[in-house]
Formats: sequence, C-alpha cells, structure tokens
Amino acid sequence: MTAKLNIVPFISVDSMMKLVLAIGVERFLVELATYVEEDFRRWELFDKTPRVASHSQEGVIELMPTSDGRLYGFKYVNGHPKNTREGLQTVTAFGVLSDVGSGYPMLLTEMTILTALRTAATSAMAARVLAPDGADTMALIGNGAQSEFQAIAFKAIVGANKLRLYDIDPAASRRCAKNLEGMGFDITICGTGQEAVEGAEIITTVTADKQYATILTDNMVGTGVHINAVGGDCPGKTELHRDILLRSGIFVEYTPQTRIEGEIQQLDPDHPVTELWQVLAGAAPGRTDPRQITLFDSVGFAIEDFSALRYVRDQLKAFPFYEELDLLADPDEPRDLFGMLLREAAKQEAAMAIG
Ligand code: NAD
Repeated sequence: MTAKLNIVPFISVDSMMKLVLAIGVERFLVELATYVEEDFRRWELFDKTPRVASHSQEGVIELMPTSDGRLYGFKYVNGHPKNTREGLQTVTAFGVLSDVGSGYPMLLTEMTILTALRTAATSAMAARVLAPDGADTMALIGNGAQSEFQAIAFKAIVGANKLRLYDIDPAASRRCAKNLEGMGFDITICGTGQEAVEGAEIITTVTADKQYATILTDNMVGTGVHINAVGGDCPGKTELHRDILLRSGIFVEYTPQTRIEGEIQQLDPDHPVTELWQVLAGAAPGRTDPRQITLFDSVGFAIEDFSALRYVRDQLKAFPFYEELDLLADPDEPRDLFGMLLREAAKQEAAMAIG
C-alpha cells in the first residue's frame, strides 16, 4: 500500500466486489466474524456512543463513529424502506478508517456491500453462542438485499444449511433461492411466515418497513428457538410481538442504542438484557437452558463497522483492489496551504501561455 500519507486507499463498489470474490464470500464472512469477535472481546477499550441519527418521514440517515484509541472509524448509512419501490436500495453506506495519532484517514470505502457482510457475520457470531446446539434449519423472513448474506454466514459459521424462505413478495423469495443455488443449501419457499418457522431452530427476521410490524406473533415461536431479529433497527420500526420479548433471554449490542432502536423499545427501559460482548468474553452466560428462547436484538453497532474496516484494510496487501485517492492537501510547507494554491495558479497560467 502507498506510503504517502496524503494518498488514501479508496475501495469503490467495483473494487469491493473484486475483493469479496477474490477472498470468497464464505471465507470473508468467517474471517470478518473473527475480527468482530476480537473487537467485542475488548469492548471496554472502545469509545461508544449511540449512533447519531437524523430521522425523516421517509427514513433515516446515520453516522456511526467509534475508536479503540489507535484507530478511529465511522460509517455513513441510510435506511429508507420505501426506496426499493423507486428502484433504490433501502440501505447504502460508506465509511472511513483513520489513524488516531495523526488524525489522517487511512481508508475510504464503500460500505453497502460491507454492511450486509458485517451484519451477517455478527448475526452468525451471536447465533454460534446462543442458538441450540446442532441447529441446522433457519427460517429466513424478508428475502431482500441482506438475505443471502445472512444465509451464507449461518451456513458457514453455525452449520445451518436448511433454509425456509418467506417474503410478502414471492418474487423476492424466488430470487433469493436462485441466488443461493449450488451453494449447498436445502431450500424451501414458504407461503406464510407461520409455514416458514415450522421446524426451524433459528428464525431470522430481516424485513424492511418503517412501522411497528408484527412479523412474528407469540404463537409462532416455540421453546428453544433462537431469534435473530435484524430488521427492527429504528425508533418506531420493530418486527416482533412484545409478548415474544417477555418470554426471551435478550442479547443486544450496545444497550443505550438498542433501547432506542431495537425490539426492546417496546419494553420498560429497565427490562434486563445482556450485552453480547459479555457472553463472548465469558462474563455472562449465553443460552442457559435448551428450552430457553434466545433473541439477538440486532440493530447494528459502530464497533462492527470498525471491525469490518479493519478487516478490509488488512486484506489490501494480499488483494490490492483499491485506487489511490488524492484526498488530503499536502503543501510542501504544512502551514503554507495558500501558497500551494498560488503555485497551482502559476502552473495553470504557464500552461495557458504555452497552449
Ligand atoms: P430490502 O428492502 O432489500 O428487503 C426487505 C424485504 O422484506 C423485502 O423483500 C420485502 O418484501 C420484505 N418484507 C417487508 N415486509 C415484510 C413482511 N411483513 N413479511 C415478510 N417480508 C416482508 O431491505 P434489506 O437491505 O434487506 O434490509 C432489511 C432490514 O434490515 C431493513 O429494515 C434494514 O434497516 C435492516 N438492517 C439492519 C441491520 C442491522 O445491523 N441490524 C443492517 C442492515 C439492514
């Protein structure tokens, strides 16, 4: 990678796709999950703040910053459920990783694809410690942009290779099934959510609707199931009936953020929850009883993006899929920023005189 600090590696969407394909989607997810786990285990080191969200009628635009004292990362991300009707993505994102010592950015990257990967890697990492032993069947409700990534992560990390798909739009389920063809899944497309959860030890909900939706009602969730609730991630946007939460052991990323954005916004503010990092660090139990319902109330936290940025940066030596971006002004004398502009003006004048 470039040694010039003013030149910042930039990973475009095209480069990210090349990077993911060169590494392999499954390997990428497995390795990324180890980075997320590593960072969750050193949770207390990080600067943590609920994301900075700007809500509108149509959706939300958010900034998600964090730092471990050595590196600093942030992601810009939106969530606009109505976008797909207009041919746009519900979620798009880009992000930056910086050196805390100089404050200089070290990486600028697309994060729409990377968000889908990090969300799936985090969900599967949580399920690895919370789902019932030997779980191999997952209901996947909501078959949009995130869905295949979730499926592949759960197969690679948890071993769940039987999928039961459901979406209110049957074309979405058909597309998801087709995209996953030949990847070692046994796939059933279901006509209702109720049909999808039958026989599933893991239920992933990853629907998009800016409202209190009820994707799962209480009677749909039997004992011993692990729920990976991904789609409820905004104030006023949830997927599970409140009664399910009251029967579940609830695991969250960062409690202050999840109280605002997660399924638990439906509960009293002091309802007990366990932060996932505590389970990974051995400070709290995960699943305590085979009949327990465990719920990972995923909203997406800045440390997961930080881990993803860190992982991607570590890959660039072996997989140099990036462009060099002239992002930072670099005058010969650091305080002579205006002089740099004057020298450029002189250069342009000279070129015009020759021309
Ligand atoms: P998407 O719009 O591409 O797909 C959503 C799918 O849900 C669509 O196919 C839609 O038809 C389906 N759907 C909507 N209502 C449904 C219902 N009642 N029953 C069944 N299916 C239904 O969106 P996406 O990018 O896949 O994201 C899905 C959700 O996940 C969004 O709400 C997004 O904000 C959230 N998300 C969360 C995280 C996180 O870290 N927790 C990360 C990324 C995205």
